[in-house]
Amino acid sequence: SADPSTHEVAAALTILKNRHNLSNRCLDHICQLMRLLKASNVPKGSAHVKRIFLSSSTAHFTSSSYYCSKCNQLSSKATNCSNIKCEENKSFSKRPPVFLRMPLQPQIKDVLLRFPSLNLQRQRYSTFIDSSDISQGDFYKKLLKNEENNFITLTMNVDGILIAKSSKSSLWVITFVINELKKSERFRIQNVLVGGIASGQSKPTRKEMSVYLQSVVNELLTLENEHCFQNYDGNIEFLRVFLIAGSMDKPAQALVQNISEPNGAYGCGKCFLQGIINFWFIIILEE
Ligand SMILES: [Zn+2]
Ligand SMILES: [Zn+2]
Repeated sequence: SADPSTHEVAAALTILKNRHNLSNRCLDHICQLMRLLKASNVPKGSAHVKRIFLSSSTAHFTSSSYYCSKCNQLSSKATNCSNIKCEENKSFSKRPPVFLRMPLQPQIKDVLLRFPSLNLQRQRYSTFIDSSDISQGDFYKKLLKNEENNFITLTMNVDGILIAKSSKSSLWVITFVINELKKSERFRIQNVLVGGIASGQSKPTRKEMSVYLQSVVNELLTLENEHCFQNYDGNIEFLRVFLIAGSMDKPAQALVQNISEPNGAYGCGKCFLQGIINFWFIIILEE
């Protein structure tokens, strides 16, 4: 039989690494050992294994752009704003935040390809009353009535992560999960879709966040039209994709919905009440 290709050896090593929680150093040593044993097509080490897969999968469809705070536009270059009318057109006066955009459609294709169609159907037709999932909600049921079965739905999350306690540098990640996957699968890292990642020296402004979200929104709108997806069984399905809910903490919600901070006036994302300052803690102290 023919020797396995470098790609196949790298795939086997990756599975071994994940299954046994091996370190990169350990992977380097396994590669060394295999070469000593005269195995062919062995990757040079863990970094090589990573490169083999990165070059072929995610890397080619992501795109980075840079946010210009002067004209509120995304620029393709890190050095200067591409808007000729902008005063930062010659060069950025400070390092601009980076936004890495990842199209959702190829990721949805990837995930659906790993599940048999039945998996999705079962969720939808579950008859027993279970209020613990979004598919039992009123909005979902309405969608089910209008769209029959040819759709899937997404829940969005936006959250920020501080990179270090000492600096204000942060990453803001826009993620989605597919609600039709059963809960044990839905939130697993390989089934979560990433719409984009923003990285900057400080928390993004509301304007900045809306620029990042705009390109995601545009894609979501096209996904509401039918697209063809293949499932694990090899069947082709025409599905519409709907974003039906967002789940995020209060500060992130304020950014995404462009409303005031949750402790400020009109800080509620659902209603238009101004809100009142509550002095209950003073009353407790006096008692
Ligand atoms: Zn500009
Ligand atoms: Zn309210």
